[in-house]
Amino acid sequence: MKAAVVSQRHPGKVEIKKIALRDLKAGEALVEVECCGVCHTDLHVVQGDFGPVPGRIPGHEGIGIVRAIAGDVTSLRIGDRVSVAWFYEGCGVCEYCVSGRETFCRKVKNAGYSVDGAMAEQCIVKADYAVKVPEGLDSLIASSITCAGVTTYKAIKVSTVRPGQWVAVWGAGGLGNMAIQFARNVFNARVIAIDIQDDKLQLARESGAEYTINAREEDVPARINELTAGGAHAAVVVAVARSAFNQAVNSVRAGGRVVCVAVPAGDLDLNIVKTVLDGIEIVGSLVGTRQDLAEAFDHALAGRVHPVVQARRLDEINDIFNEMERGAIQGRMVIDMRQTAKTASTQYQESEA
Ligand code: NAD
Ligand code: ZN
Ligand code: ZN
Repeated sequence: MKAAVVSQRHPGKVEIKKIALRDLKAGEALVEVECCGVCHTDLHVVQGDFGPVPGRIPGHEGIGIVRAIAGDVTSLRIGDRVSVAWFYEGCGVCEYCVSGRETFCRKVKNAGYSVDGAMAEQCIVKADYAVKVPEGLDSLIASSITCAGVTTYKAIKVSTVRPGQWVAVWGAGGLGNMAIQFARNVFNARVIAIDIQDDKLQLARESGAEYTINAREEDVPARINELTAGGAHAAVVVAVARSAFNQAVNSVRAGGRVVCVAVPAGDLDLNIVKTVLDGIEIVGSLVGTRQDLAEAFDHALAGRVHPVVQARRLDEINDIFNEMERGAIQGRMVIDMRQTAKTASTQYQESEA
């Protein structure tokens, strides 16, 4: 089968290779991938930001059809449509796994990072951890919910923002676009979006942001303070920039909560006196549990959130990473393996003729 593989020879790039998939082990299922969204985390992985992983197949916004199951599997059937998410598997018994915080399991496996992911024609999932996609939800849409959607849905939950309150969202890319929609349409919050590109801010307004701020042109904390009469109740940072985290800390009101989601390298500057006197809370949020993902799928099925997606081919993957680095993507690029297969067979026929 064809797969994108983190290159050993070309740092920061992937290569398309033919790979033989190993046999299924107990508890596993074989998934024929329909599509897989390209998350900025894949770019971090490919660039070795979390340590080098040559040979790894990235991809954790995968959607596909179960084609085979190991003999002991009872939670999936052949023909089921499932997701391949970053949270690939937990141990199932630790304090995190049994208390609704399974993504923090110390023995966690992550698709496309510690195990092979879904940027391939086929992949292997742990059956009990592969969340089913509800019938009627388009696969391209479902792919975006599998990471961008569930992560931001969870982050807004973690922000504890209440209906009518202000939440400021830094970054209006793949995750940001979803964060704005979940905050507005599911949590009934008032949204301010911050980005450094006007086209992203335009999309943010179309997605439900009441105000937008270009961080290159305005003093962000001052503007938020003015718009919200004292600061946002919550901030969610999905911008891949250290400066955004520092702006967020300075843009929440007393008692405000900053939810950190993006993972740029570096440290956050935290003024101790302000943190104490204003009772500021800073909290990390990591993807979502299987239950969060099932809920996020339901919100998408009900039409409350509409990921902005564009189908691409597997062989365009390095171009997509390049566009992502340049900030040239609106919403999410999704590798459509069905399109890839069609193009590949056309090319084959053409070259045969
Ligand atoms: P993306 O590239 O689609 O979007 C990033 C956005 O940030 C772009 O719109 C860009 O213009 C904007 N931006 C860049 N610098 C900015 C600045 N200084 N101020 C405001 N906006 C700025 O990326 P994405 O796929 O949405 O991912 C965002 C981040 O979230 C990545 O670091 C990714 O690894 C991380 N992530 C974390 C989790 C988690 O569970 N915590 C899950 C998925 C992704
Ligand atoms: Zn992701
Ligand atoms: Zn565990």
